[in-house]
Order: sequence, then C-alpha cells, then structure tokens
Amino acid sequence: MQSAELAEKCGVFGIYSPGSEAARLVHPGLFALQHRGQESSGIATSDGLQLYLHKGMGLVTHVYNEEAIDDLPGFIGIGHNRYSTSQGSTLDHAQPVLPKDKILALAHNGNLPSTVLLESFLRDKGLPSANSNDSEMMADAIGYHMRRGSPLEDAVSDSYQLFTGAFSLIVMTPDKLVALRDPHGIRPLSLGKLNGGYVFASETCAFDVIHAKPIRDVKPGEMVVVDESGIRDYQITPGEQKLDIFEFVYFARPDSYLQGKRVYDIRKNFGRQLALEYPTHADVVIPIPDSAVPAAIGYSQESGIPFEEGLIKNRYIHRTFIAPSQRMRDQNVEMKLNPIREVIEGREVVIIDDSIVRGTTAPKIIKMMRESGAAKVHLRISSPPVRFPDYYGIDTPKQDQLIAANKSVGEIREWTGADSLYFLSYEGMIQATGLPEGTFSTSCFTGIYPIDIRERAGEIVRFPVPV
Ligand code: 5GP
Ligand code: MG
Repeated sequence: MQSAELAEKCGVFGIYSPGSEAARLVHPGLFALQHRGQESSGIATSDGLQLYLHKGMGLVTHVYNEEAIDDLPGFIGIGHNRYSTSQGSTLDHAQPVLPKDKILALAHNGNLPSTVLLESFLRDKGLPSANSNDSEMMADAIGYHMRRGSPLEDAVSDSYQLFTGAFSLIVMTPDKLVALRDPHGIRPLSLGKLNGGYVFASETCAFDVIHAKPIRDVKPGEMVVVDESGIRDYQITPGEQKLDIFEFVYFARPDSYLQGKRVYDIRKNFGRQLALEYPTHADVVIPIPDSAVPAAIGYSQESGIPFEEGLIKNRYIHRTFIAPSQRMRDQNVEMKLNPIREVIEGREVVIIDDSIVRGTTAPKIIKMMRESGAAKVHLRISSPPVRFPDYYGIDTPKQDQLIAANKSVGEIREWTGADSLYFLSYEGMIQATGLPEGTFSTSCFTGIYPIDIRERAGEIVRFPVPV
C-alpha cells in the first residue's frame, strides 16, 4: 500500500486513570472528535494485564453498543476515529492497530509521505511490510524493540528516527500509556488531567465532555509517558512547531484550543480581516454552514453588514464509509444545504466559505442564491487559494484536482458564477492567528513542506502562480 495515497485526518484519544472505566471515557471523547474522521472507529483498553479491542466501520454511534463497551475493561484506554478518502477503505485499516501478540496498541493521526526508512528497517529485521500501511509499520517497528525486551518508551525513542512525516501517536501496553508528536507537531495533540489520571486528545473539545482539565499541548518532538509511577516527559528530538494552519482554517472544532488559541476566535479574525481587505457593499452576510459560521460572524461584525442564516444544513447527512465519488460529492451539496428565500430574495449577499478545495461547493451555492432571487452574489473565502497537495494527513487531494492550482482567481470566479470573488490574503491569514508565521506548516497554500517529502516531491508542479 502506498501510504501517501491515504489522506488521513484522524482523531486520537488516550487515558490513564486508575479506578476508572477507561472505555466509558474514551467513548465520549471519540464522539467529540467525530469531525476528524467518520470512516471507522476503535477503542483498545487494558486492565493492567492484557489488551482488549473493539473496532468497526462507520460513525462512533454505530460502532459501539453497551455490550461492546462492557467488553472493554480496564483503566487505560486509547481510541481512534479514522478518516480516509482512499479507495481501499476497509476494516483492515481501522485503528487502534493491535499486533497479533497484543504487545501494544497504537493510534495514529497524520501521514508518513515517505516510508522508505521504515520499510527498509522492517525488511532488515525480516519483518514483512508488504500489505501494511504507515501506522501498522510504526507499530511493527516499536513492537520489534519491545519483543527484544525494551520498555515501551525506549522502543518508541529507538524507532522515532524511522518515522518521516506527520504523526501524533498514542501508544499503550498493558500497564503504560505514551503520547508523542513528530518533530514539527504538524497535527495537534493535547494533554489534560482527570481526577488522578491523565488524558490525551487530538483536540481539547474532547476533554470538555469528560470534564478533564486541559494542561498543555504535547510539544513537537516530545513523548509523554504515564504509568503507575506517574507522568514523565522526554524531548526525543529537538522540536520546531509547525502546526498545519489548515487546522485553524477548517479542520479543528471551533470550541477547541490550538497553541493556546480558541479556534473560534481565530476564525472570527479571518472573517474580520477579509472584511478589511475587501470592503464590499451588500445587504446580508451568509455563511456556508457549519465551518464558515465563525468567519461570517467576524465579517459581519467588522463590516456592519447583518449576519443571517440563509442556508440551512441538514446535520444528519454524514459521509459514509463508501469512498466518495465526484457524483456523490455533487449530490451531497444539495442534500446537505437548503436556502431560505426570504433572506436572499432581492438582496446583495456576501457568501462566506472557509476554503475552496476542488471547487465543488461554491458553484452550487451561487446557483442556489440566484435561484432564490439574490440581486448580487459576492463570494468571500476566509483562507488563501489551496494550490498544493497535503502530505501530512488532511484531505487536500492531488494537485490536479485543486481548482486554484489550475485556474486564476478570475477564472475561479467565472467557474463559480459569483459576481465577485476574493480570498483572504496569505499575510492577512497569518496576522489573524496572532502567532508567528514560522510556527505553521502552510504547505497547501505555499508549497513549502517543513518535512522532507522525499519521493513525493516529483509530483508537485511549481507553476507560475495563476493570477
Ligand atoms: P470544495 O467544495 O471546493 O472541494 O471544498 C471546499 C468545501 O469543503 C468548503 O465548504 C470546506 O468547508 C470544505 N472542506 C475543506 N477542507 C475539507 C476537507 O479536508 N474535507 C472535507 N470533507 N471538507 C473540506
Ligand atoms: Mg464547509
């Protein structure tokens, strides 16, 4: 399996809490992280002696029933929600990964664009990697050291240099839990406290549901270990924070904190900045729900143009575990979003979306606005054009499918049918985060990849940027 074909943007969760029923805390945690992956879900637990596992295809609500949770005893637990656009989406790829001898369980958020080092390590040791994905190979490398007597944290440190890419990992053994991030901290991972125990999650919104208290982010290049002697942290390798800025743009839940910033506030700032950069005369500001709502509120507050819900989202249409085709994506927009004519008719509307990726959504929304009698439709995007593919675990597809890699802003405007179109400037986006540019991976906007993408680099076209 070519691991980089799997665009995974998953959610991970882990807990070590003596006296607790861990599965009953992982389960709500996974509910809170559902937006990070809807293809499959799994929980592994330990009662101190051995590991237990349950996983299945689909949403958290479908994967677990009372009996499944009952069959997951113990006070240590990890969980995973998987997102994938790959065609080969089967239960085989659901996580946590649990090797046959149940020596460890591993949950991975991220993607290793290059697995050359891992594969050659496993080959050297006589271990097969042929049908394995990147997460399984990581578990195999860590397991190799453990089977030779290394404690989990040593096995992780000894394997660390083989992992080339983005990884926020949670790994457990029957009596230990560790959480770690790649040297650039591309995908988020936070540490929290609950009663006498500790919790890890992709996003802090998962702490709130179980009343855990957020402590801090796991640092880039750091490993945090929790066991019966308490909590310890190790800097495995020097880290340099490069959080994927797309977490702020689209991916994270607005009620989470990333790098100490409330995502909701940053998205509102994106909208404010957009209003400042391109003052526009209009009667009403309408977000494409849900992801563009905070940006539209910011835009409305800055411009003084009233905010309205002009598009209602059916919240019961979910991605299924069937790999989506373009035809399904096309249909989905109409099934998901329905306009309110009274808000739109006869008015000049500003439509806000958080991003344009393939360009599927925008033309359908503009058409809906016209059919609902809009006098003018101005489209504003609260991020810059996405011109480069992502290799670290977010679903931005191959470069030739990215509309902004192939069309200028003027051509995109034409394609969408909007009367005007502006994207937030790159500088404006950075400024609106209140964080230094250097703390982000901005690859989907700039084509600058903080991690060597090795053999994938040949796939990227560095065209003169269309204007
Ligand atoms: P497009 O329709 O242009 O292909 O994608 C843009 C729309 O998809 C926006 O409404 C945005 O909120 C949403 N979006 C952006 N990134 C992603 C992603 O990685 N996965 C999914 N499912 N939607 C996304
Ligand atoms: Mg959206």
